[in-house]
Amino acid sequence: MPVLQDVEVKSEARRRRTFAVISHPDAGKSTLTEALLLHARIIAEAGATHGKAGRRATVSDWMDMEKDRGISISSSALQFHHRDVVLNLVDTPGHADFSEDTYRVLTAVDSAIMLLDAAKGMEAQTMKLFEVCRARRIPIITVINKWDRPGLEPLELLDEIESRTGLRPTPLTWPVGIAGHFHGVVDCASGDFVRFTRTPGGSTLAATDRLSAEEASAEVGDDWTNALEEVSLLESDGYVHDQRSFEDQETTPVLFTAAALNFGVGHLLDTVVDIAPSAGPRLDAAGQPRPVESDFSAHVFKVQAGMDRSHRDRLAFARVCSGVFHRGDVVTHEATGRSFATKYAHSVFGRDRETVEIAYPGDIIGLVNAGGLRAGDTLYSGTPVRFPRIPPFAPEHFRVVRPVDIGRHKQFQRGMTQLNQEGVVQVLYSELRGQQAPVMGAVGPMQFEVAVHRMEHEFNAPVHTEQLPYTLAMQTREEDAQRVDQRIGAEVVRRDDGALLALLTDKWQVRGLRHHHPDIVLEPIVAQS
Ligand code: GDP
Repeated sequence: MPVLQDVEVKSEARRRRTFAVISHPDAGKSTLTEALLLHARIIAEAGATHGKAGRRATVSDWMDMEKDRGISISSSALQFHHRDVVLNLVDTPGHADFSEDTYRVLTAVDSAIMLLDAAKGMEAQTMKLFEVCRARRIPIITVINKWDRPGLEPLELLDEIESRTGLRPTPLTWPVGIAGHFHGVVDCASGDFVRFTRTPGGSTLAATDRLSAEEASAEVGDDWTNALEEVSLLESDGYVHDQRSFEDQETTPVLFTAAALNFGVGHLLDTVVDIAPSAGPRLDAAGQPRPVESDFSAHVFKVQAGMDRSHRDRLAFARVCSGVFHRGDVVTHEATGRSFATKYAHSVFGRDRETVEIAYPGDIIGLVNAGGLRAGDTLYSGTPVRFPRIPPFAPEHFRVVRPVDIGRHKQFQRGMTQLNQEGVVQVLYSELRGQQAPVMGAVGPMQFEVAVHRMEHEFNAPVHTEQLPYTLAMQTREEDAQRVDQRIGAEVVRRDDGALLALLTDKWQVRGLRHHHPDIVLEPIVAQS
């Protein structure tokens, strides 16, 4: 019954919220994720998914390196329910060195939560990730966390958000009492007071204490009156939530939380359910929207392997864009025209894999044995479609890489191909350097550490690396290649899509080259589609 199925898909898409949390390390992303899950009652007690030193192992600690450093390198997706809505939370790596990975992940979401530390405001990594959201036109909900501790003035924070992002902040809650001596918040929509109760250890759900304005006034006196005054000033200046301006990325709703104490987290979940955009039509490579009720299609945003020693396979994460996904369906891989069997489909979070039987637009599926799939690829059945490729970033760090044991060249090649396809590093070749000594390009140097670690532990081909003096890469042409060579301390390498990249020491060298060879083509890096 196709008509009935259309209705079903549309209504399932409407109840999906697919989002990510973006933040600077230490703002409290893991704590917030844990608290969201707790509220959604996925885990009985907060703490079970945490992975910082001294705490219990986190479900997203996939690699030894992640554990050692206490940072999250890989991304995973988590599905949970709140009210009648299905939430898909896509995890993003916290470290700036993995910003390219984060960029890919953010192609899969419909909204983002920008998490700030109340004492620090907008930090470097927050800004970078915000820029990605802005470029992708993703609506943003701002959460100001750690409100239980001394921090900046709330008005000061709003000011900073507005001046740094250009978005008008529209508070949904407003603090009563200063950070550190905090009584609770005004719920701006209802005018109620939500009392802050300290939950010991933050390990169980905090009871939500809602009081009327009169009760609040009796309980906290002047602080309540002051908070109400500020709210009414903000309202009269137009700092009020408006759904349309939020969706058009003109405003960002703001909530105040203490994630470690579970305060404000339930309100955040309600906010995501009430105002975050649901899964809508996605634009294909030609800029045409594909309605959610069309035939099945999905966009691969991440490919990953070696997440777990007991599952040494390759996994592709894809966002369902239209139609219904049934495990076992055979779909078409647009890039090759080949069929792809989805017998092994999972919803994945860290080590835990659950088989997924059915998925709707907005859902994230993990496809196992996804050897031929790459980030940016499209899967579909029925009417063909191609979603936009995900442009590779311009690398800024370069290392030449060689196998320690020349006899292991097969393992070496296999590893290099795999790391390149996953986008762990870009592997760049030139005739000059040969197959056994390609150049690895990265946005952040920690990507090299991951590559070296995986070459040794996963592909059994330990490598030596050596830093190269370049800091930028620009796209060039075959006919210009010989003018950009080692005589001037530069070189040309080939990316796997055929693009020729000139590796250069700095922008002065670019100027010099352009001066001596005005006809030379050196362009900022773009994706080949
Ligand atoms: P991430 O790096 O963004 O994932 O940050 P974490 O969730 O690991 O938090 C960093 C530190 O901040 C940890 O010590 C947390 O316990 C602490 N933290 C997180 N949220 C809060 C909060 O609401 N209040 C306070 N006081 N500390 C918090």
